[in-house]
Amino acid sequence: MKTFPMFLQMAGRHVVIVGGGEQAAQKARLILKTEARLVLVAPELDAELAALVATKRAEQVATLSVDMMRGAALVFVATGCVGADYAAHTLAKAAGAVVNVVDRPALCDATTPSLVDRDPVIVAISTEGTAPVLARQIKSKVETMLEPNLGDLAALAGRLRPEVSRHIPQAVRRFFWDWVFNGPPRQAMARGALRDAARLIKAQIAEGTTGKIEGSIALVGAGPGAADLLTLRALRLLQEADIIYYDRLVDASVLELARRDAERVFVGKEVGACSWPQDRINAVIVAAARQGKKVVRLKSGDPGVFGRVSEELDCARAAGIPVEIVPGVTAASAAAASLGRGLTERGSTDRLMLATAACKPGDADPDWAQMLQPGTALAIYMGVAKAGAIIDSMQAAGIPLSLTADVVSQASTAREKRLRCRLADLPAALRDGQVENPAVILVSWPKTHIAMPSSNVAA
Ligand code: SAH
Repeated sequence: MKTFPMFLQMAGRHVVIVGGGEQAAQKARLILKTEARLVLVAPELDAELAALVATKRAEQVATLSVDMMRGAALVFVATGCVGADYAAHTLAKAAGAVVNVVDRPALCDATTPSLVDRDPVIVAISTEGTAPVLARQIKSKVETMLEPNLGDLAALAGRLRPEVSRHIPQAVRRFFWDWVFNGPPRQAMARGALRDAARLIKAQIAEGTTGKIEGSIALVGAGPGAADLLTLRALRLLQEADIIYYDRLVDASVLELARRDAERVFVGKEVGACSWPQDRINAVIVAAARQGKKVVRLKSGDPGVFGRVSEELDCARAAGIPVEIVPGVTAASAAAASLGRGLTERGSTDRLMLATAACKPGDADPDWAQMLQPGTALAIYMGVAKAGAIIDSMQAAGIPLSLTADVVSQASTAREKRLRCRLADLPAALRDGQVENPAVILVSWPKTHIAMPSSNVAA
């Protein structure tokens, strides 16, 4: 190591920044996160820095002196002028300060790392200047691993530390903290329920024992296919999961993001039928969670959209297992994005309908006339195989078959296909265009519908 990482004590100290432009402002933003007093040395400050002085978050000094730098935690130099940078550096060294001259590595005693800030949890990344792009990549990865409010839990733990020392026997204290950061308190915090986390920890302290790490179930939206359409929360849960039960439509690239040693179980649900009956899925996810496992039930798109979540939620709740839903990008959103437009259009389609063509066996067919009216954008899921029947019933209901339909299959993936035609031509176009499942059909009925002149245009 050419450089050695240390965390500097900032409370009760001051930091000097020499310079009044954007580079000085960048350093000021960093230092403002700390408890240090900020001294700006420049005859003129840019608007951002001037505002800091006006709001008393920094003080301004017009000329530099050795005295002001004595005892400074750090001195940053960013004057934008070589001569002035060197002069400031010389004075700072005379004051015995640790100096960083922006963009002049030869004049730096210390460099600023890439930071992942979950104060008081701070991750500092350095490649010693060899690969800044790599440092940024590492930072992005770490950012996704740490929940946005992780710092709150760490701060809470810090506050409760004396209580824990008093009530939890030393021999098991490590397990207690493991329970806090791996168990229900961390899960509560990740859901944004810091109060629940605090309540759990305090109850456990009162009991004077370490808590048990329980299993949990997360019904996680895998999105439409593209792995980078996953939410950060989904990614984190995939990386923490002990076991993942996934559907047929979950893209392989999403599964690749799971922890290497997580068990993966394909439950192979098909549209309208499933190789694993729903009852069996419910039973196995609950059984795995009962063994203390972190279970991820990975479903395509948004789990709450035609994803039969209620059955799995009910089972988990009946078994007393903590269960959460992690929303995902639903197929209709991905399809509209692929078409380069919104799902709704202000003043034209002010209502959005998500409908499935595959209802419960025995249920009446969907009432398309009731769903598709002027001013509506309709997204039909699981409709490709039934397109003929859908169009027949739309026609019978008096829906103009001159409306435009867009079909997007495998939206967001490299295999994506798009097709555009008049409603009247949809069944034939689907046959000719070889659009395969999974696909969504989007039909908009603008308030002022204008019939499409040509009958069948492949997009
Ligand atoms: N929960 C999912 C929907 C599950 S139902 C979601 O929110 O997207 C399965 C249907 O979703 C498929 O038949 C198809 O209509 C649609 N679908 C899922 N993934 C899709 C994709 N990548 N492109 C287009 N349609 C998709």
